[in-house]
Amino acid sequence: MVEADWAPSKEDIVVVLTGAGVSAESGVPTFRGEGGLWRQFRAEDLATPQAFARDPTLVWEWYAWRRGLIAECEPNAGHRVLAEMESAFPRFLLVTQNVDGLHQRAGSRRVVELHGSIWRVRCVREGTVSEDSRVPLSEIPPRCECGALLRPDVVWFGEMLPEAALQRASEAAAACTVMLVVGTSAVVQPAASLPWMAKSHGARVIVVNPEATPLLDAADEVWLGPAGEVLPSLWQRWEENLGG
Ligand code: NAD
Repeated sequence: MVEADWAPSKEDIVVVLTGAGVSAESGVPTFRGEGGLWRQFRAEDLATPQAFARDPTLVWEWYAWRRGLIAECEPNAGHRVLAEMESAFPRFLLVTQNVDGLHQRAGSRRVVELHGSIWRVRCVREGTVSEDSRVPLSEIPPRCECGALLRPDVVWFGEMLPEAALQRASEAAAACTVMLVVGTSAVVQPAASLPWMAKSHGARVIVVNPEATPLLDAADEVWLGPAGEVLPSLWQRWEENLGG
């Protein structure tokens, strides 16, 4: 762990970018690490519009499995620290690539979901979006009242991100003075470019990850370790500086 003797003040504009790694200690599998496979499939072969068009039942069986698994998971110390941070900084935004809703369950409210939510469904014909936290689902694949298929309201590989969410995240990245990047491999675009955008506008970039990622080149500060252990230590230092 490389620790730096630095801490923000209340005047700082803080943006946090999270990826699947922040939920790993809660038991939610990442796509690329251990436990990333379901049956014999890779996520990249299931989380696509083509896979859904070919076999919506298979894709929904995978999502039903993930929903069941996530429903059993609890937010971890990393999620909780990020919720506390939100109360400490007047100007704060959490941008997540995660679809699991664990940040919100930990108490985070200022959240931009770049890749949607596994707890919402969207009608493929009408485009209407609704909350759906049923576990298990009553039918697979689920259908809209209009008779068309419902799909998970998540961004699949090869799809555009929701425009409003991406714009909010990009504006925040350009305006922030501190960007904290937690648990992302920083290879999935366009989210991966947000820390570089922040850096080019003069922000301090802090990376938390147990492994090296391409983002280390942009980092002013690197904490090599799991989010659930690192974030409480980092937050202890920050809180002391903020003066309670
Ligand atoms: P990713 O590309 O964000 O990679 C996961 C990263 O987390 C890796 O760099 C890994 O080193 C790091 N990591 C692992 N354990 C960690 C820990 N305890 N603390 C901090 N970092 C840790 O994610 P991905 O799994 O390759 O997924 C790609 C896309 O799918 C992203 O949009 C991702 O958010 C989404 N996804 C979401 C969830 C979820 O909602 N929980 C789960 C899987 C995938």
